[in-house]
Amino acid sequence: MVNFFWKWGIWLLAYPIIQVLSTLRHEGAHALAAHLEGAKITGFRIIPGSLDGRRQWGWCSWTSVRPMTEWAFLAPFIILPAIILFSLVLAEIVWRSANFSHHIWMTIMLFGVISPAVDTAAVYWRFKRDSGDLKDALGINPLARVRRLAALIFVLCTPGVFWFLAYLLSGLRS
Ligand SMILES: [Zn+2]
Repeated sequence: MVNFFWKWGIWLLAYPIIQVLSTLRHEGAHALAAHLEGAKITGFRIIPGSLDGRRQWGWCSWTSVRPMTEWAFLAPFIILPAIILFSLVLAEIVWRSANFSHHIWMTIMLFGVISPAVDTAAVYWRFKRDSGDLKDALGINPLARVRRLAALIFVLCTPGVFWFLAYLLSGLRS
């Protein structure tokens, strides 16, 4: 029972840390891209809160004298294919290592594969409800390649998500 807690239960307690790190990845990418486009960052937050009456995991706002391109809105997703691939390779190395570490593997998978999949699904969900990064980006430039980017992210995530779920199920059953 105690072992079970240290192996799995601890992840319920660690969840907020993964959430904040994932929000930092997302909002940090917005901030960096907006900054590179010459905008001034006016708000940055990586813990949940309310912005304009909406619950948010975090946010990044900016003002710009020049018109912005869609890239600042898409930045959190543009970096994902590289992060997912890198995380899968890293997870595979940890998996094959003689002294496999459950907690390191879980951290890599949650931050680098599961959270990107959830983030991308969430932006699609919000797009359907007429809000969010994807809507803002498409409002500037309705590119078909935005949808291709989302498709690429899901294709890259899928093997990792199944790997993670299989590990979770076998671990929780044993
Ligand atoms: Zn965003």
